[in-house]
Amino acid sequence: MSRVLIVEDEDDIAELLRFSLKLDGHEPLVAMTGEEALSQIERLRPDLVLLDLMLPDLPGAEICRRVKSGRRDRQIPVIIVTARGQEPDRVRAFELGADDFVTKPFSVRELMLRVRAVLRRGSPAGPEQLRHRVGPVRIDEIAHRAYVDGNEIELTALEFKLLATLMARAGRLQTREVLLRDVWQLSGDQHTRTVDTHVKRLREKLGEGRDLIETVRGAGYRMSDPGDA
Ligand code: CA
Repeated sequence: MSRVLIVEDEDDIAELLRFSLKLDGHEPLVAMTGEEALSQIERLRPDLVLLDLMLPDLPGAEICRRVKSGRRDRQIPVIIVTARGQEPDRVRAFELGADDFVTKPFSVRELMLRVRAVLRRGSPAGPEQLRHRVGPVRIDEIAHRAYVDGNEIELTALEFKLLATLMARAGRLQTREVLLRDVWQLSGDQHTRTVDTHVKRLREKLGEGRDLIETVRGAGYRMSDPGDA
């Protein structure tokens, strides 16, 4: 059971997170202010911190910076839960070492998957879920490497995240909006061409695996289901 600290000053969001984490088998803790969060991190040593950026006393980014600059705490993963329009803070928090981001309003299911993924990254147990294979394409999210037919291919961080997302959800349609949200952390439909551009580049790099990423006309993309082959 993992101890997850929710740092959130809005009661209903904190409660929703607490309930969902508990349901998912974690042990949730709640801090409503930045000072409370720092004291709980110090005393209770959570396995993961879900961090709201807008807190009444301290900026969430400052908490992230303190955790990630502490010798003892820096290995504690931090997932930032940010509202739309906080991009400058978000970029800063990434630079400060946050492990992942979720934008409000968030999908609880998606957030729980990310919590699991981030927790898994930090533990030696269960790395299998972070290795995926579809046809000749194989990725290892822990080592951050991708292969086609056993030959490693060079991907940018974004291409890797895009491929990992598609592979983890093989057989399921991913709309451009969903990919923008989960890979780029952007909301809305203003940047859908960005997705197309990156998919095109990713396909080129996949060589003979390129057709595994199917275009679903008028909807988005889908990675072939391994079971189809
Ligand atoms: Ca807040």
